[in-house]
Amino acid sequence: QLGNATAKAELGRATWKLLHTMASRYPLEPKPDERAAIKQWIYLLSRLYPCGECADHFQEMLKKHPPQTASRASLSNWACSVHNIVNIRLGKPEFDCSTLADVYKCGCADEPTAESG
Ligand code: FAD
Repeated sequence: QLGNATAKAELGRATWKLLHTMASRYPLEPKPDERAAIKQWIYLLSRLYPCGECADHFQEMLKKHPPQTASRASLSNWACSVHNIVNIRLGKPEFDCSTLADVYKCGCADEPTAESG
């Protein structure tokens, strides 16, 4: 049973987009409860992720690469590097993590624009 590859890919794209965009808006200097909240969210996501095969891989990966929650930069880089581990496993190209800030915008009213920096 191959499942539905199109639906699986679409779910993956949506999930990565949410994860990277959340990381891009995570506090620069998070408080302990904010660190606990994102960590819990990531572990719950890995447990509840609807593609069972993906969830298994993700949980294994979290054991080796636990979420780095100390700052926005550390969380964003962590998310980029675990996504790259999945990319490599699936035979996809590696992503350049130095471009993250330009890619993941939330569309929020208080987000800095190109003009304001
Ligand atoms: P995606 O990998 O979905 O990426 C979407 C976009 O994000 C890319 O087009 C690129 O612009 C950007 N991007 C790429 N790499 C990075 C990065 N490192 N950092 C930031 N941005 C990046 N699929 C399976 O078949 N088997 C699995 O076991 C599996 N496990 C998964 C586990 C998790 C936790 C998730 C979220 C998804 C998993 N997927 C799995 C789905 C898979 O990762 C892809 O989402 C799916 O194959 C669609 O790939 P894509 O080429 O469209 O790009």
